[in-house]
Amino acid sequence: MTVPRYDIAIIGFGPCGAVAAALLGQTGLRVLVVEKSRQIYDKPRAVAMDHEIMRVLQGCGVAAAVEPHTAPFSLSERYGADGQLLRRVGMLPPPYPMAWAPTMVFHQPMVEKILRQRIAALPAVEVRLGAELTALSQDAQGVELMLRDEDGASALARVRYVIACDGASSTVRRLLGIAVEDLGFNEPWLVIDLLAGKKGQKGRGRLPAVSTHFCDPARPAMFVVCTGDHRRFEIMLKPGEDPQQMESEDVVWDMLSRWVARDEAQLWRRASYRFRALVAKQWRIGRVFLAGDAAHQQPPFLGQGWCQGVRDVCNLSWKLQQVFAGEAGDHLLDSYYAERNAHFRELTQTIMGMGRYLCELDPVVARARDAQLLAEAGGEIRTVLRQDLIPGLRLGFLSPHGHAACGTLFPQPWVEQHGRPVRLDDAAGGGWRVVLGDAALSWQPQVAAPLRLLWVAAGERAGAWRETEGVLAAWFARHGVAAAIVRPDHYVYAVADSAAGLDAELDTLVGAWGGMQARLVA
Ligand SMILES: Cc1cc2nc3c(=O)[nH]c(=O)nc-3n(C[C@H](O)[C@H](O)[C@H](O)COP(=O)(O)OP(=O)(O)OC[C@H]3O[C@@H](n4cnc5c(N)ncnc54)[C@H](O)[C@@H]3O)c2cc1C
Repeated sequence: MTVPRYDIAIIGFGPCGAVAAALLGQTGLRVLVVEKSRQIYDKPRAVAMDHEIMRVLQGCGVAAAVEPHTAPFSLSERYGADGQLLRRVGMLPPPYPMAWAPTMVFHQPMVEKILRQRIAALPAVEVRLGAELTALSQDAQGVELMLRDEDGASALARVRYVIACDGASSTVRRLLGIAVEDLGFNEPWLVIDLLAGKKGQKGRGRLPAVSTHFCDPARPAMFVVCTGDHRRFEIMLKPGEDPQQMESEDVVWDMLSRWVARDEAQLWRRASYRFRALVAKQWRIGRVFLAGDAAHQQPPFLGQGWCQGVRDVCNLSWKLQQVFAGEAGDHLLDSYYAERNAHFRELTQTIMGMGRYLCELDPVVARARDAQLLAEAGGEIRTVLRQDLIPGLRLGFLSPHGHAACGTLFPQPWVEQHGRPVRLDDAAGGGWRVVLGDAALSWQPQVAAPLRLLWVAAGERAGAWRETEGVLAAWFARHGVAAAIVRPDHYVYAVADSAAGLDAELDTLVGAWGGMQARLVA
């Protein structure tokens, strides 16, 4: 019997596996997706995503279909132990740096459905639903997978690399014997999803108009304004409370009674979780990588779990593609762990800090906490920008010359195409790019595939895209540079303020690619 062969297997077709399959499948690599369940889980877990993620979905060709199932994230307010407003969390004002609302709420099952439709149209991707990975072994050339279908029949498949997107209780992680590190957060919460009636109808009135953190030591809680009629409460369970009992309808309505009554909204879902911060100690063993919840979990206080997983698979996808294309050596794949693990840990510390603030149950400590926050803000109610809480990449496959812009997300300006505004990625494509702004329009750096040159001008210039909102011009001015080398995941590899500086950065990049075959700089 011949064992079917693929380039890459993705284990798990949840929201991270689906993005990985779309990103890799559209490059033409032969991808096998293995998913034990037949259906998409029909209720949302993730409700919020960043503009970075929407830009990745744009790169997967699904943003237009996803957009109607999103809405800009509302302002967030944080209330203290005595019910006083302490702080607001807002988002960057327009013009938006990524050409999408900086934070959005979305409908997870719809987004997953749209991704699956897109993947179904990719001939290089084979999706096996109802198939469970039960064992794997690897050698120098590849990985052999043992799959079991719902009837108990087993089948083998052989692949060059595996991405395990098989969730928090990852089979692959267990099979590889990878231990998990506890970062020190473990609190029981109850998540309640409501359908809260149409605008103007009963039910909307007493619900907060904006997303809210109630840092009330008597009962810490969060409220999120989701898409359409969907409203989410997340309520902390206190020591001694039994999660199963707290999930009962009567208890839930009793806890919600200060905001909404039983006849004013429909209870869609309630589920208790332990909000934890956990990270796998290794994210790569040989040819197998962990990504998404299989690699890490974090409390959902900033809506970042899926976002982190999308960052993982996006990071890994372009590197795998480059290795398959012979443009880089396998060592490029080691930067996956270096970059993503450090980023995960930094962001998770911020999230855990929010969680510790919110989860304080001692009223004396909680009042002192609030007083300190206000004092630090000079007694004012400050508005923090949500995007300022998300770090860039601090290390990994970045120019060693070090500039504050390296490792940050490169903006996506709107540009004019045939007299109409279009997002730059749609107009000019993604991949490795050297983007040159107004001050660099006369530069002619010599590059070869996979690098491409893009000129973007604030005004009308032959051969250049004309940007319509000045987002990129402002970014170049803020960083004191005129050109940027941008990675396929939109992170800035290097910047330059002179043609000679850019040539030097391109030389460095060529050197860093090591095993690549094409010579990039003529
Ligand atoms: C209450 C709550 C709120 C959240 N809010 C947000 C938010 O607002 N924003 C955000 O970004 N994130 C949020 N998250 C986190 C987010 O839901 C998760 O990070 C995300 O769903 C993880 O996706 P995944 O694809 O890695 O894993 P999963 O969604 O768990 O998917 C794993 C898949 O692998 C399959 N599988 C498992 N084992 C095997 C096997 N052996 N063989 C084949 N298939 C297998 C499973 O059936 C499943 O389909 C929230 C989480 C919770 C709990």
